[in-house]
Amino acid sequence: MRMITIAKTEWPQGLQKAADRYRLFGPVQDGDFYNFKALDEDTAVDMDFGNTRLSPKSVIYPQSEVLFEYTLDEDSPDQNMLKEPDTDYSPRAIVGVRPCDAASFPLVKLNFDTPEYQDPYWLKAYEATTFIGLACNTPCSTCFCTSAGFGPFDETGLDALVVDDGDSYHVRSITEKGEAFLDAAGWAAAGEDGDAEKRVGRLKEAAEAAIVSTISTENLRDADTMELYQAPFWEEIAFACINCGTCTFVCPTCWCFDIQDENRGLDGQRMRNWDSCMFPLFTLHGSGHNPRGEKVQRVRQRFMHKLKYYVDKYDRGIQCVGCGRCVRACPVNIDIRKVAEYMNRFAKTDTCPAS
Ligand code: SF4
Ligand code: SF4
Repeated sequence: MRMITIAKTEWPQGLQKAADRYRLFGPVQDGDFYNFKALDEDTAVDMDFGNTRLSPKSVIYPQSEVLFEYTLDEDSPDQNMLKEPDTDYSPRAIVGVRPCDAASFPLVKLNFDTPEYQDPYWLKAYEATTFIGLACNTPCSTCFCTSAGFGPFDETGLDALVVDDGDSYHVRSITEKGEAFLDAAGWAAAGEDGDAEKRVGRLKEAAEAAIVSTISTENLRDADTMELYQAPFWEEIAFACINCGTCTFVCPTCWCFDIQDENRGLDGQRMRNWDSCMFPLFTLHGSGHNPRGEKVQRVRQRFMHKLKYYVDKYDRGIQCVGCGRCVRACPVNIDIRKVAEYMNRFAKTDTCPAS
């Protein structure tokens, strides 16, 4: 919609003011890493981070979430009633979201908001949230957002985008929500630095040129699903995997969960918790049968889901925004870019690339 320029020294006061209308979340140093946390007077946002260890998906979709509470106590007037938890869906804003992470939310929405089913917990949290992005001036060596269909200054999923330009920030409001945030921060009347657009353009060009890592996807859409499923390279790819699930927990686009009842005496809560297709228990049936009992089946599932089933189902590219987290975090160096190369080349030639 429009761009404003503010001095960096005005940023903390702006956030302080915005905190009157929003619950704020942002990147905060967490030991040797950065993670998204709720901001308060003791927890200040730090905009000088590379990328966070975990994505901000937990702000919308907590790792553990109460769906409802119940009691079987005959003396309680609430006996056998399902009670909604007291979840706070008041306006919240995530500041400092990297464009790759922001792009993951509309992608994940395809799963939580379908014509048949709407997930009320995810949707209420999503709708309450304003996404204030931070463009990547210096992408990491493992970032490959540009070949995943996005980019270091991409605006997908964002309500406003902040661009770091030395002593100042250029802030572009993209939606009404973004404009409302600028207003809440006291920046509604701020003007644009004369050559801000040109400077942002130059920073964007430099950032895009700095991304040298890529993922190959061009043949995946037309590939035969069963042939890819039966390709001979899955054993080789899965060999080193220890099924730790790290790749799925750090991923902004992984959405799987498990539902469990937690009981104490006659009272209980139904919870949903992040789960991972890499865990053997994920598909274990009550009968004891497990359709993905072997490691190779689980590894294949993860990559087929991200790089083929999602592509087939939605025809909107791959289920990956190129943040590179799974590449950095995998303890045995399994790399989605390499797997995509195998799949993409096999799709074209029906032969396994030389490893
Ligand atoms: S992080 Fe690596 S080792 Fe762990 S489950 Fe994922 S691919 Fe396997
Ligand atoms: S698959 Fe890996 S690179 Fe892609 S979005 Fe998930 S964590 Fe990021």
